[in-house]
Amino acid sequence: MDEEALYDAGDFGSWISNRLDPIAARDVAVACGTCTTCCTTFEGISIAHDETETLAAISSFHLRADNRAANGAKILIANPDRTCPMLVRGACSIYSVRPRACRAFDCRSLAAADLIDTEGPGAALGSRADQWVFTYDEDAKMRQLAVLDAVEFIHRHGVAFRSRGFTYEPTVTATQAIQIHELFLGGKPETEAEEAKLLAEAIGILRHFANLSFARR
Ligand code: SF4
Ligand code: SF4
Repeated sequence: MDEEALYDAGDFGSWISNRLDPIAARDVAVACGTCTTCCTTFEGISIAHDETETLAAISSFHLRADNRAANGAKILIANPDRTCPMLVRGACSIYSVRPRACRAFDCRSLAAADLIDTEGPGAALGSRADQWVFTYDEDAKMRQLAVLDAVEFIHRHGVAFRSRGFTYEPTVTATQAIQIHELFLGGKPETEAEEAKLLAEAIGILRHFANLSFARR
């Protein structure tokens, strides 16, 4: 990958609107080009029990039970080098039935939330995400500021989010911040009561989106 390259991420306003659309967010068109970074930098992908075509396409050797889910969900286990066993000669061998998590994944979320990790296990993904460049109108600028406030809020209440079963990890935090960002368009909470009210509202919104929240670990 060309370390110096920058990629057009599109109009931020349209993009974030799509991320809030339950249908559009399920199947994202990312101009990935030849990049396969998110297929080569993970430990496991959760696959729901009703993703029957996907589960049928993957050898049981690469699957294990997802102990976080009570309904028969599986985890697609990455190879020891964090590459996906379904990646064959640089392409997804089960593309037409790839997991929902793969369809919904969009590394531009990390750029939008400024959660770019350029060190450690997430470095490759962070470096790729850092190459996206959005365009903005005034409303979009306000929305990105709200996303950044939401990230700060999630970090501040990490224990509360974890205790309610929400995964706490950059790609998930970015997605959650996008999902709750509209709560911050009016500014940050100024009192403890406003903070508590916002937390309850944020948890409610995230529960609403929970079926679309696909953890990648
Ligand atoms: S890291 Fe981003 S650009 Fe690369 S394949 Fe994944 S979603 Fe596409
Ligand atoms: S299933 Fe396909 S799209 Fe998903 S991580 Fe593996 S190779 Fe990539």
